[in-house]
Parts: sequence; C-alpha cells; structure tokens
Amino acid sequence: MPTDLELAFPILSAHDLAALAARGRDRRVPAGEVLYSVGDTGVGFFVVLEGEIAVVDGTDADARRVASVGPGQFTGEVSTLSGRATLVTARAATDCRLIQLDGPGLIRAVDELPDVGEAIVRAFMARRQMLIDSGYEGVQIIGSRFSPAAHELRDFATRNLIPFHWVDLETDPEAETLLRGVNFSPADTPVVIGRSGKFKKNPTIAEFAHCAGLTASFTDDRVYDLVVVGAGPAGLAASVYAASEGLDVLTADQLAAGGQAGTSARIENYLGFPAGISGKDLTTNALVQAQRFGAQVTVPCMVRSLGLDAGDRVVTLADGTRLRTRCVLVASGVAYRKLDVSRFADFEGAGIYYAATEMEAKLCRGEEAVVVGGGNSAGQAVVFLARGSRRVHLLVRSGDLGASMSRYLVDRLQALENVTIHLGTQVTRLDGDGRLREVRARDRSGREVAIETGALFLFIGAEANTSWLRNCVALDKNGFVLTGPALPPETAQAERWRLAGRAPFLLETSLPGVFAAGDVRSGSVKRVAAAVGEGSQSVSFVHAHIQRPV
Ligand SMILES: Cc1cc2nc3c(=O)[nH]c(=O)nc-3n(C[C@H](O)[C@H](O)[C@H](O)COP(=O)(O)OP(=O)(O)OC[C@H]3O[C@@H](n4cnc5c(N)ncnc54)[C@H](O)[C@@H]3O)c2cc1C
Repeated sequence: MPTDLELAFPILSAHDLAALAARGRDRRVPAGEVLYSVGDTGVGFFVVLEGEIAVVDGTDADARRVASVGPGQFTGEVSTLSGRATLVTARAATDCRLIQLDGPGLIRAVDELPDVGEAIVRAFMARRQMLIDSGYEGVQIIGSRFSPAAHELRDFATRNLIPFHWVDLETDPEAETLLRGVNFSPADTPVVIGRSGKFKKNPTIAEFAHCAGLTASFTDDRVYDLVVVGAGPAGLAASVYAASEGLDVLTADQLAAGGQAGTSARIENYLGFPAGISGKDLTTNALVQAQRFGAQVTVPCMVRSLGLDAGDRVVTLADGTRLRTRCVLVASGVAYRKLDVSRFADFEGAGIYYAATEMEAKLCRGEEAVVVGGGNSAGQAVVFLARGSRRVHLLVRSGDLGASMSRYLVDRLQALENVTIHLGTQVTRLDGDGRLREVRARDRSGREVAIETGALFLFIGAEANTSWLRNCVALDKNGFVLTGPALPPETAQAERWRLAGRAPFLLETSLPGVFAAGDVRSGSVKRVAAAVGEGSQSVSFVHAHIQRPV
C-alpha cells in the first residue's frame, strides 16, 4: 500500500514520462522563474524531467514551502483539472527541464493514458487534503458564530472545498486586530480577507466565490451539446457520462456540487460501498471524475430561466448570462421543507433525517425518536420506527390527524403503546453538542414538552426546484417535471412533436431536447442510486436528439 505521501507525489516511470513528453512541450526554465502564482487560472501542468520546482504558500520570496517537485514528479492539484484559481505558487528552485501541458492537453492525457491518468487524479485529490491538513489558511472569514450570514459563507466554503480560516468574533482575540487592519468594526462582519489581501464586508456568495477564485467565464458564441442544471447525483452522473462520451458539457449549480446527497453524513445504501460512504466523499469523487473527462462544472451559478432561440435551447443565469445549448438536463432536485428554528443547520445530517429506512431506524434503536408531519409518509415512518425505538413522538401541527392521514394508519398509530401523538404542536427549539440531543415543542395551549432524542424525522414535504422552468415545460400539480409517458396525451399533438415525428423519450420533457432526471422528475424514486441511474440514462437520449435535432 503506498503511503499518503507516495500517493500525493508519485514518481512516474520513464515509459509514462515519454508518453507525456509526446503530448507536451519541452521547456527549459532557469532557477527562480515563477511558473504560476497564487490566484492564476488555467495554469496548466508541469512534469519535471531535470531539476526541482518549489511549491510555496504565497508570493513573497520567503513564502513557506509546501512541497518540492523533483524528477519524474508533476505539479498541480484538483483546481488544475477545473482551471480554477490556483492556491499556491510554483517556482523553479533550480534550473529545470520540464514537460508542459495546457489544461485541455492534461485532460486528453488523463483520458488516453489510463495508468498515468489514475496516478495524476489520485495525486491531485490527495494533495488538496494534504494542503488543508498542513495548516494552509486560504481565505479568512471573520464573523460571529451566531451570525447566519457568516454561517452561510462557511457552509459555502466547506461544501466547495475552499480552504478557509475561521476567525470567531466571540472567542478569538485575533478577530478585532484583523478587523482594525482593514478598517472595519465588528458591526461590519462577516468580513472576508482573500489570499491576495483583498477584503470585503458582508459579501454575497457570488462575491465570496470570486474572492476564492471560483468564478467561471463564458464565451458568447459557444453552443454546448449539453447544459446540466444542478450538480447533485443526477447532474454529476450525466456530466460524467456525457463528457466521457465526447460531448461538450457545462454543469451549473447554484450552491455546490453534491446536492442533497453531499449533505448526508453517511450513505449506507449506495451500491459498491459496503461500509457506507460520506455524501461529501461520494460527490467530491464524482465532481473530480466529471472534470477529469472535461466537463465544466461551475458554482455558484444559478439558472434563472430556460427558453428557445433559433433551434438552440437558451439557459439564462441569474447574472443575465445566456448560454446556448443543443440539449438541457433538468437535474435541479428538490428542497426538503425545513423547520424554521434556530440551530437547525447544525443538526442536518447529525440527527435530522428526511427518510426512515432500516439505516435510520438502527440509529435510534432502543432510543426515543421524533417524527414531524401529518401525512401518510409520517404515519408510515412512525409505524416503522416504533418496532425498534423505545418511544416515537409524532408532532402534528394540525389538531386533527384524520384530516391528512389515512384512517387505517391513524388507527394503527393509536393502537401502538410506544407512540405518543402530540396534536397542534410545533417544534420550538433544538439542542445538542455536535449532534442532536433534545427537541422542544409547544402546543397551542402553550404547554412545552422537552424530548431527549438524537433523531428527528421530517416529513413535511419537499418542493421541486422548478421555479426557473415555469411556463416552459409541463409540470405536475406539485411542480415536478413531467417526462415521457407521464406527459399529457395532448403533448404529442403539439406542432413541435408532429414535426419531430416521434414521441418524447422516456426522460424527455414537453420541450424536445430538454430532459429531466433525479428528484425533480415527477414520479422518480427519491434516492441517490435512482438519481445517478436516471442522470446516466439521459445521456443516451441526448445523443439521439443531437443526431436528429428537432
Ligand atoms: C440529509 C439527506 C440524507 C440522504 N440520505 C440518503 C441516503 O442515505 N440514501 C439515498 O439513497 N438517498 C438519500 N437522500 C436522498 C438523496 O440525496 C437524493 O435523492 C438525491 O440527492 C437526489 O439527487 P438529484 O441530483 O436529483 O437532486 P439534488 O441532490 O437535490 O441536487 C440538485 C442540485 O440542483 C441545484 N439547483 C437547484 N436549482 C437550481 C438552479 N435554478 N440553478 C442551478 N442549480 C440549481 C441544487 O443546488 C442542488 O445541488 C438523502 C437526502 C438528504 C437531504
């Protein structure tokens, strides 16, 4: 088994070096020359044939060295594949002879040379983690731990693997000094100080992303083969398959790659991971896999609307940018309804669940559990959990359970001795220390109940992220996207389908060339595996549409 260091800095064989040399440019670089500096984008890839490159944390002459790259080794980490701003500076420590490949050249090499490609991708992923572990500070975020705006920035940084240093106004004496240094007061927080020394008070997510080097640029005249909206499991699966099959793909997500699955502490039921895998690991791997095939994944990038223009589909972003494309995949998922109580986000994935399967049931076996909701899904969850839990509390906002739940379920619940039904009751407070420990709720009379529990199940519905699609593709009555056989019969009679001479494909919406996959699709199974399956499958329909455009 190679050590972490060997994985991060492998030495390529003479055979591999020759294969890379045939694809790159031979360069001689004198000692001291800077190959790229912190913040540069699209920096390319350098393989050392002779000499040594110093990789340093910053741009000053005395910047801390984080790595040395010697003969047979190469520069780069995950941002090299995406062309995003680099986190470090690379400088020739001695006279060097190098092979240089640009971004597309690197992606082609990874694709065409499987052994070298594997070594490069593994090294890139290991290096980002090593950099963070080595004390690399990245962007500084100064704010109060109780500020939702500061929380949003930290959440965005964490979900997008942006290295950052959190300076807590409440406890860190360094905070005021740092703020004074940039002429701000605590009232101006959250404040972000970038690597280049640029700073901003209370930045929007877009401004913060720009400061961290995430922002993408688009060329006006480009027509993509496929624009994927949403980089959850469905969107990432489609991006991997489409890019690996040679399609020109852009994937846009309003927040971060990973979607809901990326927020799951542990996914136990996804095929191929017998010990389970954290949602973050699963979706980070998927993101790198998509980028390694050449998909452009861009965040934060909110899509505002979809339209048609002279045969192309046009996706308009929140900042007004218009992207032209032959096909669109709607993979914008759902947003589960959440409770409006403080500290909610602290326990998402650490005690708050949106499904009650064997896996979740195990987590509260022998303990108390709380279910919120008045519909059949809540009732079924209570019946299921009551088999193994000491007590299950059902909190229902309305005063009449029969109004929203089937009679047989109400009867069954009432017959279960270890179920307590709290009618007219709402959650008021959550407490815990890293994970949920207590749920407090209050009924209409003002009586408060405190339940010691590590498991809160929410069945208060989910809303499809389809506001950007209204009046454009057919939706069901709940706002989910209708596809294929689920489309109303009159769809096939529409002029555009008569001209197409075919019925919509299985995952095609009412607009030809616009497909939908995953949780956003009406009737889909709300699971990671189902979303991945549909995302992958949609690519075959994309090919079919491109071959015979409508
Ligand atoms: C806490 C939690 C735990 C879970 N655990 C499991 C589990 O263990 N096993 C399992 O099988 N399933 C689990 N699920 C369900 C699973 O995560 C979902 O079924 C799956 O993520 C759906 O994938 P998707 O790609 O269809 O949509 P999503 O994951 O919802 O991704 C949609 C993406 O689209 C983006 N988006 C939305 N609107 C726009 C827009 N206008 N512009 C740009 N981007 C947009 C969102 O930011 C999001 O990233 C869990 C869900 C949650 C919330």
